[in-house]
Amino acid sequence: MTKSYTSLNEIKGEIAEGKTTVEKLVRGYLGKISANAHLNAFNEVFEQEALISAQNVDSRIKKGTAGKLAGMVIAIKDNICYKGHKTSASSKILKNFTSVYSSTIVERLLAQDAVIIGRCNCDEFGMGAANENSFFGPVKNYADQTRVSGGSSGGAAVAVQAGMCHAALGTDTGGSVRQPASFCGLIGLKPTYGRVSRHGIIAYASSFDQVGPITRSVEDAALLLEVMAGPDEYDSTLADVAVPSFSKNIKAPAPKKIAYLQEALSSPGVDADVKSNLIEYIEKLRADGHTVKAIAFEYLDYLVPAYYILAMAEASSNLSRYDGVHYGYRSPSATDLVSTYKRSRSEGFGKEVKRRIMLGTFVLSAGYYDAYFAKAQKVRRLIREKTDAILKEYDFILFPTAPEPAFAIGQGEKDPVVTYLSDIFTVQASLTGAPAISLPTGNNSRGLPLGLQLLTRHFEEQELLNFSKYFLEL
Ligand code: GLN
Repeated sequence: MTKSYTSLNEIKGEIAEGKTTVEKLVRGYLGKISANAHLNAFNEVFEQEALISAQNVDSRIKKGTAGKLAGMVIAIKDNICYKGHKTSASSKILKNFTSVYSSTIVERLLAQDAVIIGRCNCDEFGMGAANENSFFGPVKNYADQTRVSGGSSGGAAVAVQAGMCHAALGTDTGGSVRQPASFCGLIGLKPTYGRVSRHGIIAYASSFDQVGPITRSVEDAALLLEVMAGPDEYDSTLADVAVPSFSKNIKAPAPKKIAYLQEALSSPGVDADVKSNLIEYIEKLRADGHTVKAIAFEYLDYLVPAYYILAMAEASSNLSRYDGVHYGYRSPSATDLVSTYKRSRSEGFGKEVKRRIMLGTFVLSAGYYDAYFAKAQKVRRLIREKTDAILKEYDFILFPTAPEPAFAIGQGEKDPVVTYLSDIFTVQASLTGAPAISLPTGNNSRGLPLGLQLLTRHFEEQELLNFSKYFLEL
């Protein structure tokens, strides 16, 4: 039986006492991975390589030269490039693509002695909220195998949930770290846009994409963030702001002002257990001296449409590089240049990705650009301004992470619009670039995890982490 640790500090303590080694930990995770292969969380396990890396880290620990992530065994979403390893974005079109360089974040994690155990299943190119849009099939939730993992970083979340690694990295464009974390009873952090390098991350919608950690403790989320964050010459969208030692600075917060969305409690679209969970925490916060007030967000109905118009537009442009010539799959039945493009793309992309490329192309096309794309950009600006105004008055906005807990596999396939609407509470942080975290807040009566989300001001991750640590102890 492998033990499941909440934080890297516990692991470091046991290594220091001689109770375990990184190699033993990796062997334990590999055992869990093979015992839970049916959950479909991994697209590939780097078995031998992880064992060798673990031995190397063990010897650096003995010599006293190990980095701050020594003992941390992580899995990465399969859209994060790692030199010499396949990176597929869970798409047929990239099934046999091997990364020729590593993403900046992978380099930073390895430099601090993290061990990467494998690449995780996800929705194709990050497009989805249930991990049902993967070429490699859906990921099953460890809490109930008939239910989805959440998405798009579903494999990454289940890998941590089922003890197949200590922590994982996902990417969050419109909620893909936070929502699967909430479906799996874990912490999921989306940093401020501009905090973490996107270099070497397979692009979905570039003005939204951010990498974020999925962990069991706030300390680990803080630690992974501080290792990954900060300027990178390969990503010009990164802000030149100082990266504090988030993990060392975690301290108890002073009384705060917190807003929550009235509609989260009044809307019939929100599950009853999700509502009572929110009420429970509002009451706990009030009892502990915080000011918690309901607000109405006047652009609520525009969040999902604005997000999807912009994300699909950006995706249609980003995905134009998959042409059967430069990257990945080329149709064997292509006869000339045009049929190479047409057939490779038709055969290589899945249904949802094709839908989004078509919609994205439509909203960018002459005649519709102003009515959709330009308008959505303006709406995005209004949403940002209104959110900033709320955050002048309040320290945090509190939401459920998702309107309902993990749903049955197959349910989302019927109507894509219903699936898109389930992103209602996560896309505000994505549209505005604000940092947000999903925190595990117990289970419903069927044992399914529930999660609440906190959103705060740009680059105030330290405050967010401080409050999160306290929130989980409420
Ligand atoms: N569910 C959202 C979408 O499909 C978010 C995905 C993500 O964050 N990658 O676009």
